[in-house]
Amino acid sequence: MLKTPQRPTSMAVLTSGGDAAGMNAAVRATVRAGLAAGLDVYGVYEGMQGLVDGGDRITQLSSSDVGGILHQGGTVLGTARCAEFRTREGRRRAARNLIERGIDALVVIGGDGSLTGANLFREEWSSLLDELVDLGEIDSGQATAHKRLTLVGMVGSIDNDMFGTDMTIGADTALHRITEAIDAIHSTASSHQRSFVIEVMGRNCGYLALMSAVAAGANWVLIPESPPDTDDWEESMCRAMEAGRAIGRRRNLAIVAEGAQDRHGNPITAQHVKEVLEERLGEDTRVTSLGHVQRGGAPSAFDRYLSTVLGYAAVEQVLMSPGAEPQLIGIRGHEIISSPLMDSVNKTKAVADVIANHDYETAMDMRGGSFKDSFRMIRTMVRAQPHAPEPGQRRLRLAVLHAGGPAPGMNTAVRVAVRVGEDRGHTMLAVHNGFKGLADGDIEEMNWMSVTGWVSRGGAELGTSRKQPTPEMFARMAEQMAEHEIDGLLLIGGWTAYQAAHTMHELRDEYPVFGRPIVCLPASINNDLPGSELSVGADTALNSIQNDVDKIKQSAVAARRSFVVEVMGRDCGYLALMSGLATGAERVYLPEEGISLLDLEKDVNELKDGFAHGKRLGLVIRSEHADPVFSTGFIRSLFEHEGGGLFDVREAILGHVQQGGDPSPFDRIQATRLASKCVEYLIEQALGDEPTSAFVGLQKGKVRFTPLIEFPNLIEPGVHRPKDQSWMALRPLARVMAQPSHPKP
Ligand code: ADP
Repeated sequence: MLKTPQRPTSMAVLTSGGDAAGMNAAVRATVRAGLAAGLDVYGVYEGMQGLVDGGDRITQLSSSDVGGILHQGGTVLGTARCAEFRTREGRRRAARNLIERGIDALVVIGGDGSLTGANLFREEWSSLLDELVDLGEIDSGQATAHKRLTLVGMVGSIDNDMFGTDMTIGADTALHRITEAIDAIHSTASSHQRSFVIEVMGRNCGYLALMSAVAAGANWVLIPESPPDTDDWEESMCRAMEAGRAIGRRRNLAIVAEGAQDRHGNPITAQHVKEVLEERLGEDTRVTSLGHVQRGGAPSAFDRYLSTVLGYAAVEQVLMSPGAEPQLIGIRGHEIISSPLMDSVNKTKAVADVIANHDYETAMDMRGGSFKDSFRMIRTMVRAQPHAPEPGQRRLRLAVLHAGGPAPGMNTAVRVAVRVGEDRGHTMLAVHNGFKGLADGDIEEMNWMSVTGWVSRGGAELGTSRKQPTPEMFARMAEQMAEHEIDGLLLIGGWTAYQAAHTMHELRDEYPVFGRPIVCLPASINNDLPGSELSVGADTALNSIQNDVDKIKQSAVAARRSFVVEVMGRDCGYLALMSGLATGAERVYLPEEGISLLDLEKDVNELKDGFAHGKRLGLVIRSEHADPVFSTGFIRSLFEHEGGGLFDVREAILGHVQQGGDPSPFDRIQATRLASKCVEYLIEQALGDEPTSAFVGLQKGKVRFTPLIEFPNLIEPGVHRPKDQSWMALRPLARVMAQPSHPKP
């Protein structure tokens, strides 16, 4: 009978293939989770080459060895292409190097090439050990003790081209770099009325091209999976660009994926697109190839979070099923998933084959729902004008308004709503200044061009307010809705929007116009709304907090100093916990938990102990409503007083910067996706017999509508937050990651 393999006692982690931002965070999480589980953890330098070379390229790591790397791009372990690892001889040396150190578990962070190589290594493991015994390089006792290699993979790749995970490590950061570059190009292109063609990475995968086109409001996009429909696509592109100019668009922007091709598989280059625009339209056109800029820079908040949770889960996987079939750890929505490694690698490779065989429909199907949705959406958004209404169709009048605090991405959502609504043949109205504007009849008809440039603009062009409508206002709102013949209402906003929408729905017997469909789109940096894992604006706020905290940490390199940073969130600790994860905070105070005197005593003692043992920097993040008594100022004074001369303490209340700034790519993409679904929902409901009202959201990464009537059942009584907050499950992980004092090897 086969004995269940023993739980490994030593584990190695390596990064391999193309580098990607977030690899460091993944290494840090793997190392710290491994140490916390009592494993000896080794770092392998220079990818597979380090395995083959051994020596000091395979080094035991302590928790502090992976301190201070969370915010760094690239990989501190290094990565290399390694020809020797492709030979059996090379892999035999690698096996010996691991066995010598008693290592029989390997966590690999890399692309499909690296994962394929690692899988082969694992398959050959026992035969490699036999050879090593025969050669006298290891003894049979060693071979028996480490019969099987446990292998777990994570995908580090900016292309986001892997099956088995919604997102790969590095893709979100690459989108940040691309979007920043395009935003910058935007202003110069508009000034000179130029055309720009931007080439982005992605040989077999159009993810970066497509999503950056959505996020940057591009006017044409070319991706490998879905080549232009016709052979004369150049003509269609020119007509679209020309129509844009005719209605006053000041710049034209085309995005071309590295691997873009036509229906026959002939490559379409950025240079070719430029030549076409110049020759056929006489456009002054420039090409920008973003190249390695896309790989570089500090990882985004999402990549730090993703890498951290994946690294932690990878170690759990190692411990749970030693010796089992290798698994790939990935994410679906907020959920961590594992799938057989080679299944995912093979499916990924299959897409390339499908594209090579010109079977584009299958290629798009394999990319999945949100990719296809985005592609469909971009084809609407690149139009210079809406489709003409169908003859005889009913033209609805749909209104958009904001309520609640400002959230980056609100403008993006309005732009999409207006364009999708108009494109479907309906009249789109904008209500200025929230519910007050609705009560006052401050309502304007919008058109295609009135939302030009809104995709990337922070703030809220229509104005927003936190004020709940008074009973008297509800009456006037109803009057105005009737007077303007509003058939449906899209509320883009936060708590105020949801609460008022629910009240309107409740009042529908008294004011029958409130029985017309209302849909709420979650837009709040606090991420405190029911029915959605994420609200628009939260990702931008997280990145903003993270950038500020990175700077605050850098300001303290020389001194022994602790910071108490206060972040927004009202009654919801999402921003605090997630920014704590992304910046490596030791302690996070959440409104969900409150703060007790006992907590503070324990925390100050831990800080003292840390600083007494060489710690130079402390970081504590406090959510603004964490506790009514123990304020940020109080905690600072307490720590400083109790810390004695060991360290000093500074407080930083980040304030309204968290609500500002241009929306992150992720917020733009989510706003686009949700707003288009909301308008479709309103149209369907308004034209149906029994209209209902709802709020939209992302649930397990999918767009879902929840009936508005459910609102009170889904929230915590007395506070502004939903009952279901799946991210709270990350608290233990945050604690493990912040542990600076795992035992030294
Ligand atoms: P990526 O992991 O980004 O796809 P590569 O394809 O270059 O990058 O793979 C990185 C390294 O992984 C290679 O240099 C090689 O050492 C190893 N590797 C890749 N494919 C194989 C394979 N089929 N067999 C053995 N090793 C491989």
